[in-house]
Amino acid sequence: MTTTATRPGPRGSATPQAVLEEVFGYPSFRGDQQAIIDHVVAGGDALVLMPTGGGKSLCYQIPALVRGGVGVVISPLIALMKDQVDALEAVGVRAAFLNSTQGPDERREVERALAAGEVDLLYMAPERVTVPSTGELLDRLRVSLFAIDEAHCVSQWGHDFRPDYLALSMLHERWPSVPRIALTATATAATAAEITQRLQLEQARTFVSSFDRPNIQYRIEPKNQPVQQLLQLIRTEHPGDAGIVYCLSRASVEKTAAALVEHGIPALPYHAGLHARTRADHQSRFLREEGVVMVATIAFGMGIDKPDVRFVAHLDLPKSVEGYYQETGRAGRDGLPSTAWLAYGLQDVVQQRQMIDRSEGNAAYKRRMGQLLDAMLALCETVECRRVQLLAYFGQQSQPCGNCDTCLAPPESFDGTVPAQKLLSTIVRLERERRQRYGAGQLIDILLGKRTPRVEQLGHADLATFGIGTELSEQEWRGVVRQLLAQGLLAVHGDGYGTLVITAGSAEVLSGRREVRLRREVARPTRASKRSAPSDLPATASPLFERLRSWRAATARELGAPAYIVFGDATLRGIALTEPRTLDELGQISGVGAKKLDQFGEAVLAIVRGEEAPTGAGSAPARAAVSAAPTFHESPAAGFPVDDIPVDDVPPDDEYFPPPPDDRY
Ligand code: ADP
Ligand code: ZN
Repeated sequence: MTTTATRPGPRGSATPQAVLEEVFGYPSFRGDQQAIIDHVVAGGDALVLMPTGGGKSLCYQIPALVRGGVGVVISPLIALMKDQVDALEAVGVRAAFLNSTQGPDERREVERALAAGEVDLLYMAPERVTVPSTGELLDRLRVSLFAIDEAHCVSQWGHDFRPDYLALSMLHERWPSVPRIALTATATAATAAEITQRLQLEQARTFVSSFDRPNIQYRIEPKNQPVQQLLQLIRTEHPGDAGIVYCLSRASVEKTAAALVEHGIPALPYHAGLHARTRADHQSRFLREEGVVMVATIAFGMGIDKPDVRFVAHLDLPKSVEGYYQETGRAGRDGLPSTAWLAYGLQDVVQQRQMIDRSEGNAAYKRRMGQLLDAMLALCETVECRRVQLLAYFGQQSQPCGNCDTCLAPPESFDGTVPAQKLLSTIVRLERERRQRYGAGQLIDILLGKRTPRVEQLGHADLATFGIGTELSEQEWRGVVRQLLAQGLLAVHGDGYGTLVITAGSAEVLSGRREVRLRREVARPTRASKRSAPSDLPATASPLFERLRSWRAATARELGAPAYIVFGDATLRGIALTEPRTLDELGQISGVGAKKLDQFGEAVLAIVRGEEAPTGAGSAPARAAVSAAPTFHESPAAGFPVDDIPVDDVPPDDEYFPPPPDDRY
């Protein structure tokens, strides 16, 4: 029934379990993988909602191998297709892609291999699937399934919207008997419904995994000196680790990357303003070199499969919980301990509200953006477990996790009614008595009784509330303003200057009808100062782990492939802990499949014995990994009517609006 039996290579049998063990080297399925795979193998359609790192790829890769023929994978990012194909070839799966980075000869060779039945998985972008010549090509082949990766790109509300995804509903009209599996890490019910409707997946079975990522530690702290705070995080908890730092503007990406480099941390910038070649180069270095920190706007990250990203840091407030969860989800796909850290401040709130006010959308759009932001702020200011709140946002219930900042150091809350009244009445007095509005900086100066030149010039020392707030520090006052904004008890005026105005809720606070609970600013916990990946390795296993790591780095360099394509950290950990003496023992370790055993087995055993090991492929052919680093062409290849999105068409990222005149938020 399948081509796997006749094909040369490690597969002897073709049940999903056998493919899992022999090809991928994993002993057992995770979560819903087995149920999803069985359903698709039997020809059913599926919608899979699974968090990043949950193991979505196997859900279509294994059915494609078991069903025989070619599985067509629709993936939005052509710049990543080569790595996806390399990773498959490294485990002995015959994979290929068709996209605009290829010349006509290369493309003809892929078409020949397809016709000869030599390809198990074929990757292409949505634009290509829907053109007539591709249809004719696929008509000549036995297609085992269509996998629609990053299916949330069909959602118009989402920030990854790709119009070409809309046309994918044609797949089941043209090939009604071919099963379709759509996959995404975006979890809200609204997105799932939109995917179902737009891709006409009404008959599909929906599989919703737990969205928990237990190995990620979530932490959110007030932003004071963001670069210093970031340096502290990297130095104490993640020295030498790969990580992603998200910033809102291109300018702050550049500045932050430069600051990290100045402090000896290998950091690279990535944003839509950089040349396509530079972006491709930085992405490739991030994937191939160890310990690179990518400083990026949200234009970076979708589809990045790097499993050993140990931290994701946000230096600005994300616009929604969905975005935050997607971005932080890029940490720790390998299941090892990782950190999601966000620094957020008053200015973020002011700026985001202004961005919404000034955006071009209609009132409904602005209201919706405002609601998304409110949910994000509520997450930042919660005194409850962050994870409980995150999962609840995606409709999933859970218990306090013990691995987030609020669980590790429960924040104190206090009755903030009086400070809130002091602040609000200052705003009211300025409005009523003087027809003036100000931002937080001036208001806090008044409350603290600071006789600044501006206070003197404006005569604010005469206000009844001048100097009545000395019980709190300036920083604490900023926390009060931030939290009142988050609770809707204060608002940013739409004048574009970030001035603060009262709301309906403020009136209740002023009249004493409403109590205000505030969260006290506390010093946040940090993890022990150690490398996180092997930190839970016993001391005796660490030297071996480090030797395996350096062998892996040298091998990957020689092969021109990312290190994780050789072996993931979790697999190296397994080797360091069990010290296998024979190929059989090595083959038992999770992540060591037949091809890698053949290719790297002797070298790994030599390292375990304490010998110098040869790098590279050893005896077996290493065709997959040997292929050169990706090439990137700007222009679509000739002779193809419509083409993939060129690599430089990164979604635009938002720029900051200029800071308001009162720049002391
Ligand atoms: P996703 O696409 O959902 O983000 P991936 O498919 O990239 O996740 O899988 C994440 C990591 O987990 C990969 O390193 C993958 O090899 C590994 N993985 C997936 N399924 C299993 C399994 N059943 N056992 C062990 N590791 C697995
Ligand atoms: Zn928690």
